Amino acid sequence: MSTQRRQPHVLIFPFMAQGHTLPLLDLSKALLRKNIRVTIITTPSNAKLIIQHLPNSPIIHVIEIPFPSNGYGLPKGCENTSQLPSMDLHFAFLNATKQLQKPFEDVLASMSASDAGLPLCVISDFFLGWTLESCQAFGVPRLVFHGMSVLAMAISKSLCQHLPHLKPSASQNPSSLDLPGMKVPFDLAISDVPEPIRNLDLNDPACQFLCELAEADVNSWGVVINSFEELERSHISSFESFYHNGAKAWCVGPLFLCDDDKKPGDCEKLSDCNLAKHGTSAMQWLNEQVTLASVLYVSFGTQADVADTQLDEIAFALKESGVPFIWVVRSTTWCVPKGVEEGMKSGKGLIVREWVDQRQILGHKSIGGFLSHCGWNSVLESISVGVPILAWPMIAEQPLNAKLVVTGLGAGIGLNWADGPGRRVCVPREEVCDGVRELMVGERGRRARERAQALGREARRAVKEGGSSHETLNKLIDQLCGVS
Ligand code: UDP
Ligand code: UDP
Repeated sequence: MSTQRRQPHVLIFPFMAQGHTLPLLDLSKALLRKNIRVTIITTPSNAKLIIQHLPNSPIIHVIEIPFPSNGYGLPKGCENTSQLPSMDLHFAFLNATKQLQKPFEDVLASMSASDAGLPLCVISDFFLGWTLESCQAFGVPRLVFHGMSVLAMAISKSLCQHLPHLKPSASQNPSSLDLPGMKVPFDLAISDVPEPIRNLDLNDPACQFLCELAEADVNSWGVVINSFEELERSHISSFESFYHNGAKAWCVGPLFLCDDDKKPGDCEKLSDCNLAKHGTSAMQWLNEQVTLASVLYVSFGTQADVADTQLDEIAFALKESGVPFIWVVRSTTWCVPKGVEEGMKSGKGLIVREWVDQRQILGHKSIGGFLSHCGWNSVLESISVGVPILAWPMIAEQPLNAKLVVTGLGAGIGLNWADGPGRRVCVPREEVCDGVRELMVGERGRRARERAQALGREARRAVKEGGSSHETLNKLIDQLCGVS
């Protein structure tokens, strides 16, 4: 890599879903601060969100590559997964992204022909496995980005590798799954396993597709991870053992904390966009809550669908708990049930139906707990500011994250989801109410808060000068630049 005379340049290709894109934008900003030139590649319909989040800087660019107009298989009207109604379409969409391979390679070709030349590396999402082939064709290292915990990634990898062997034992004892060569810090049940792999069936196209992605993953040059060593040290080496050619896992998170020293320019930029505006009324409401750590924040992320009947149960549970709450509801069909509305009028709770700035909310001094689906970003954002979690996992690898938080890290307590398929049916209000009280005023909640606060201190230390994630990012850049 002869890069001495050129400004180092990194090409980043996020997957088109908010939970996958936002951490990579944080990474972009961290790279900019190290004077690395960054190009972000995306489709036109996702470019707006990305541009809104980026600072004005002459060394960051967004390149838009549209889906071909004669494209096949792209679900109608969907150019990003936040609009997709079901997992079936999720896989149809993933498959359709392969049509971006030619436009992506055109970008690499034009870079190769330019004075600046090819980038030091491409960092692309796990879901964009086909980018590996393109990178290999151009001789550029591909780093894969996972939006998951090291532990969940290692478990997913081990499952893909051992599928045929696991099937008989899992059908005999579905509540306990042994993964060869892996130490899992809790009892792993088949119901904790992400949906497409749960069937343990290589004839299932979705399962096959994930294993195909996993193959591109393990042949990549390295892995960029939104986690920090202190949190998951014990799983890193077993995770790395799945990679060929000695690929290293680079833990550089929590990436959103790298944005701590926002420059004024960035803030101005953010205040222009809708995301910040919607956050404002929530922040005003929070400012009016005088008791420290008294408010529960409730959100189930951007992907899981929660039935309106379940939302009713949650509404009554929140009311009965007596705990003040701020609750982000995504359902467009749900109405606040009678009997709950009155409580809200007296200022006990705020229901928000738009995008909020979750990080800002979690960082507010009034917030004392988070009823969460345990998406990995939410987990990191919560523990980084010392907020304990009431874990209610819904889909994908969320049950694994929930067990990591509750059993592995002790930074939360579990809502009674553990009975596997049971978590799919409606959880009654009494159970939700008990969980909320235990988290906010109970002894287990108090211990979880202490633990979350300790982890939060470690997270913030990790991204500071001399911290593990900070140093890992420096080492990664040095290695790519051929210094080390
Ligand atoms: N997956 C993975 N690495 C990733 C992202 C996903 O191994 O970086 C696997 C994992 O098994 C996950 C499944 O892909 O559960 C489906 O992805 P998911 O439902 O999490 O998609 P998302 O909700 O993140 O868009
Ligand atoms: N988020 C937000 N405001 C919202 C909803 C979500 O800022 O109203 C952010 C949240 O802070 C997190 C991401 O969107 O960074 C959601 O990612 P996560 O992995 O928690 O859940 P998923 O998107 O997979 O459901």
